[in-house]
Amino acid sequence: MGGEKNNVLKNVQEHIKKVCDALGTEPIVYEILKEPLRFYEVSFPVRMDDGSIKIIKGYRAHHNDALGPAKGGIRFFQGVYAEEVKALSAWMTFKCAITNLPYGGGKGGVAIDAHKLSEGELERVSREYIRAISPFIGPLKDVPAPDFGTNPKVMGWMADEYSKVVGHHAPGVITGKPIIVGGSVGRGPATGRGIMLTLRNFAEAEGFDPKETRVAIQGFGNVGKSAALHIYELGSKVVAISDISGTIYNNDGLDVKDLAEYAEENPENLKDYPGEKEFFPDTKYALEVDADVVFPCALENQITEENVPRFKAKYVIEGANGPTTPGGDKALAERGIKLVPDVLANTGGVTVSYFEWVQNLQNYYWSEEEVSEKLEVNMTQAFHDVYNMHVERDVDMRTAAYMVAIDKIAQAMKAKGWI
Ligand code: GLU
Repeated sequence: MGGEKNNVLKNVQEHIKKVCDALGTEPIVYEILKEPLRFYEVSFPVRMDDGSIKIIKGYRAHHNDALGPAKGGIRFFQGVYAEEVKALSAWMTFKCAITNLPYGGGKGGVAIDAHKLSEGELERVSREYIRAISPFIGPLKDVPAPDFGTNPKVMGWMADEYSKVVGHHAPGVITGKPIIVGGSVGRGPATGRGIMLTLRNFAEAEGFDPKETRVAIQGFGNVGKSAALHIYELGSKVVAISDISGTIYNNDGLDVKDLAEYAEENPENLKDYPGEKEFFPDTKYALEVDADVVFPCALENQITEENVPRFKAKYVIEGANGPTTPGGDKALAERGIKLVPDVLANTGGVTVSYFEWVQNLQNYYWSEEEVSEKLEVNMTQAFHDVYNMHVERDVDMRTAAYMVAIDKIAQAMKAKGWI
């Protein structure tokens, strides 16, 4: 576990170094980008329903804010650790730069298993965490959002608690809120919609038809589920989906709408889905089935040199953050499997978060059509910027994406006189 743990930050640092060298940036650019500018570790007591008090550990990282306030989600996960939060905050810096959002990168984590808490306990943890990090966040400083294990309800409590701390309404401090308290229409499914737009743009660039495409999806949480529903609408065939209980497969295509309804009632239990399917107990098996494209939409370190030799797909589109290790990248390249990286493919969520923040700051709200249209324009522009860099510089798409990002961040740091 220890080795694996340290890898996530090392993996990002390796990519940053490679790209700084390829761009020929001054060495100071790498020195600044390899670690967050600021990292906070907090411990806070929370009273449990049985009257006992638990000390909970939380983190918040500001990786870089040359392009604007730090932006990024808060993860509730028992196993969350400092290096992981640091790595995730770096990815946010790159995502925002690639997608032309006026933000830097941030990320937070709280070491709890949300499923094991009562609703009251979850609310107290959410509120106390926000109190603990309140000096470090703010609408023009650092703007959190949902991530693994958190949701709009949690964001609603957090925005409320922050507003109480500062003594006035401050909906712009957090995005991904319920719509009634300043959330944006379209934020919920935004990451999945963005993955669908990425598949569509990628298919056009590579010359294949998304309607003739068979897709396998690892993970059926917020991201995997909404990606599945959106590509199903697009006309692609979803042949495999996995969750923690295992992988289900249907060569003729799964009924994604029915599955999404089933998963609402039966979370993390695809294995008992009564529809037509083959079942495999391994959740990672979804990455290896007979499909054209795979979407890893679960956690980090899923695609490695160990499982890539068994892949049948031609393409990987990363819905999760950091699902591929550097060894996995190398193995994919050797097999000629092309990958669209997380920092481009899963930016739909943060892009609509940005729209939510803009609406909060101006106190004027947009229609669903406006949000959808702006998301499409933004993600398509980002896709072409990265794809063109990939073609012009003859580098893989992850390297191209980091090149686009690091070039902008270096320019901003220069313009601000930091370097
Ligand atoms: N947690 C999401 C991500 O990793 C969304 C972040 C946001 O909306 O700020 O991109």
